[in-house]
Amino acid sequence: MLKKIKFTTAIFVFIFINTSMAFADPCAGDPICYDPGYGKTNFSNPFHYVFVGAHPDDELTIYPLMKDFCSESNAYCAMLIGTKGRTGCDSGISASDCADERENELHNSAKYLVSDVWLYDLPGGTEIASPSPTMAQIRAVWNTKAAEAGFGNMVNFFKQKFTELKAPSSSLVVFSLHPSHGSTGHLAHRAMGEFVSAAIDSLNAEGISVSKFLIDTYLDQGEDYVEDSFFRSYGSASAVCRSGDQFLTVTNTGKTNYQVFDWGYDVIYPGQKFHEGENNIHSNKYKFCYE
Ligand SMILES: [Zn+2]
Repeated sequence: MLKKIKFTTAIFVFIFINTSMAFADPCAGDPICYDPGYGKTNFSNPFHYVFVGAHPDDELTIYPLMKDFCSESNAYCAMLIGTKGRTGCDSGISASDCADERENELHNSAKYLVSDVWLYDLPGGTEIASPSPTMAQIRAVWNTKAAEAGFGNMVNFFKQKFTELKAPSSSLVVFSLHPSHGSTGHLAHRAMGEFVSAAIDSLNAEGISVSKFLIDTYLDQGEDYVEDSFFRSYGSASAVCRSGDQFLTVTNTGKTNYQVFDWGYDVIYPGQKFHEGENNIHSNKYKFCYE
């Protein structure tokens, strides 16, 4: 009898552990996910923040906020990046070298932010259509890829991913590129923003609470941003903005928003300077917004 009780207990403990494991860090053991260092990201923390972008370096659009939150002792951060961006390097660099370089930069970014990162390999740019794909082409190709991978479509993929990243006892905030303008106007940014936004709306309609913030960043090398804001052209009056000269509010409070952005731009992502140019933006001409 005692043996039987012990055996039953063992089965119960086994099932319990396995059930708990279902809510354990989804990055662990997933070959697509990069963890910046064992024990650095803690999935059991109650506040979860996820950034979704189309390319490595898209997280720069909201870098200071990520840096602020992700270092909190009660936070868990993750990034989901849709493409390796292998068509987005200087012309002298091969597609595979470009993908490697950008993946390496993204990993450095994950280390800096203290964030897990999933880097997917959706096609982009000329891999979809030459010289550049339309929104409809991007949507169609990405939905096909999601279907081939067994998710049905991109919206369902994100619904599943966000549910996994939320965990039952945690809140989840998702930062996404703005579907209307993608922060920079890039169509891949906009398409990604559309899918993410639709997935969160659908989850919320099903009673699964996920908060959504749509991002815009303003960089200005000349005009005064107050007079000439890209965001003001598209965004709403409810947007919250933080200027470059403001200090981080929660962690790393000795750094300004601009300093964190500039570190990402100059130090973490040198491979993208060829088309963006040197960062000569003055700190008071930089701000980021979300609504
Ligand atoms: Zn991008």
